[in-house]
Amino acid sequence: MKLQYLGTAAAEGFPAMFCECEACERARAAGGKNLRLRTGMIVNDTVMIDFPPDVMTVSQHFGVRLSAVRDLFVTHSHHDHFDAEDLVMRRTGVFCRMKDERPMNVFMNEAAKARLDAHVGREGYDPYLNMTVIEHFGTYESEGGLRFTYLPADHAPYEKAGFYVIRDGEKTAVYMHDTGYPPEESMAYLKTLSIDFLSMDCTYGPRDNFHGHMGIPANRRVVATLREAGALKADATVVIHHFTHNCGLLHEELEAEVAKDGFLVSFDGMIVEL
Ligand SMILES: [Zn+2]
Ligand SMILES: [Zn+2]
Ligand SMILES: [Zn+2]
Repeated sequence: MKLQYLGTAAAEGFPAMFCECEACERARAAGGKNLRLRTGMIVNDTVMIDFPPDVMTVSQHFGVRLSAVRDLFVTHSHHDHFDAEDLVMRRTGVFCRMKDERPMNVFMNEAAKARLDAHVGREGYDPYLNMTVIEHFGTYESEGGLRFTYLPADHAPYEKAGFYVIRDGEKTAVYMHDTGYPPEESMAYLKTLSIDFLSMDCTYGPRDNFHGHMGIPANRRVVATLREAGALKADATVVIHHFTHNCGLLHEELEAEVAKDGFLVSFDGMIVEL
């Protein structure tokens, strides 16, 4: 399984668009891995998780061919994870011309579907999007045979936000964004797995935050709980991801912070091969 981070910041980006705080100014001055676009991932070059507002930018920066994306799995309706208006650019014959004109499969919760409905217009989705409204604990299959299970997140309580377990029959990946410390029913499910890859919400960096989003102390508790249950393989790749200026730390400082934990710190374009 090939996993590529397309963006690694929360909604405001990092450095944040309008911000002059110390963390943002330091990130601007340092550049490189400290310049973070809004969060998204592409799996096996053909399945996207979330559709952030920077999707066009990442497609140009990292050579991601959006025409090759056959499936899109949306975590929740927040605009940094789901730019509904830009998804309309997939409308073949109008905004794009594609060799393969089959619709893209989009899996999303009701709240994300409602946001998309508001932007699609009277022409409807046909023929460019094939929509599935997903439910917690449901498992949905991509065209390439990846199975995505949608687990409840501690995030955006006004909608059924979730995160994904991804399985290809051999490897198991967990993409835990956006969420606070996983709700009990999600943790119970995770404990039954044998996880090869774990990507965790780290919006608050070193800060002690367990609800809505996580910081490193919550990340450590997730890993300790899964290890204790025997659900995280000894050689699993563990990544912290989804940062803001509220975490206060630059890339190398985050790396130093979690060096003894063995966690990797995501950066835009980072590829993990399982
Ligand atoms: Zn987010
Ligand atoms: Zn800032
Ligand atoms: Zn969110």
